[in-house]
Amino acid sequence: METTNEQHPTRFFKYCPHCGSGNFKAVSNKEMRCGACGFDYFSNSAAAVAAIIHAPDGRIMLTRRAVEPWRGTLDLPGGFVDPDETAEEALRRELREELGAEIETCEYFTSTHNRYMYSGCSVATTDLAFICTITDYEKLTANDDIGDFAWYETSEIELDNIASPSIREIVGRYIQKKASCG
Ligand SMILES: [Zn+2]
Repeated sequence: METTNEQHPTRFFKYCPHCGSGNFKAVSNKEMRCGACGFDYFSNSAAAVAAIIHAPDGRIMLTRRAVEPWRGTLDLPGGFVDPDETAEEALRRELREELGAEIETCEYFTSTHNRYMYSGCSVATTDLAFICTITDYEKLTANDDIGDFAWYETSEIELDNIASPSIREIVGRYIQKKASCG
């Protein structure tokens, strides 16, 4: 997603969050420093996780987003990693919250970077994708950020229906991997 300078965190924040001074300026494209109190702020990338849930018949799950951004488009289950949480713990928590699913196996697959607009500000993320199996494929419910979900053969997936560029990239890489591995 295109980001104008005004949407970048180093332009969006006008006052020092520590002392309230207006002398809070960008010193690089990821760092702001307060000229009054010396407070230093880094706009780091936020870690997020995404699950490619693999069914016994080889299909994978895509969800439909119930929330902005990209409401109504296809997605993978997952979300932000909380402070003091591992990526695997975040994935386990998100799948419980969003689907009522318990992870059985979980293997790191790939990562992508992304930017999206939230509260008028451009948020940078690092998306970590895992290939998972779950303990029970029958008792799943769509909760939280998920409006609905369905299972897809990789040949059925139209990448254009996935709005998030990083999730589209992850699913695209998975389709390529399946095609090359048979
Ligand atoms: Zn300050």
